[in-house]
Amino acid sequence: MSAVRGTLNPREAVYVGSFDPFTLGHRDIVLRGAAIFERLTVGIGINPDKQALFAPEQRVELTRRILADVANVEVKLFEGLAVEFVRSCGAAVMLRGVRSLTDMDAEFTMSLANAVLAPDLETVFLMASEKYSHISSTLIKQIAQMGGDNTAGRLSDFVPGPIVEPLLDCVRRKR
Ligand code: ADP
Repeated sequence: MSAVRGTLNPREAVYVGSFDPFTLGHRDIVLRGAAIFERLTVGIGINPDKQALFAPEQRVELTRRILADVANVEVKLFEGLAVEFVRSCGAAVMLRGVRSLTDMDAEFTMSLANAVLAPDLETVFLMASEKYSHISSTLIKQIAQMGGDNTAGRLSDFVPGPIVEPLLDCVRRKR
């Protein structure tokens, strides 16, 4: 057992991702994770290789608003390696969600790489709930970009209420 392991709390987890935007599927994982762990941090990553729709600060602000009622959850922005961010939070667990075998394949590879980078951390996966397993941020951006009448009404089946108008605004500005 490494010296660092003792300082990381196995009852604390960090749910890392892009959250561009935060969806009902993400919220489901946060609520279920918050019921398992004493403390859960949502880590919103800045990935320079990915062209994001929302600015990082806006993702943080919206996600904080959505999760304001959940007492043991906080939302933070990070840059760099996710494992370093998890460690900097003092948590011993990285939380991720899986929707499909395709997700599983990618997540499995990533968790093995992370285990080499940070053997003192564990990755814990929660299976997506059946009613949200079709939801992805990519799909939502496509609906927002291509949807015609009543797009706002349709988006509320996929994202929490506070995301709908900022999402449509973002898409309009990028047209
Ligand atoms: P990333 O860019 O790291 O894949 P995402 O923001 O797309 O980040 O997703 C963050 C995490 O949430 C990932 O583990 C992803 O598999 C999971 N996830 C995404 N959508 C859902 C969903 N609908 N239900 C459950 N988990 C999900």
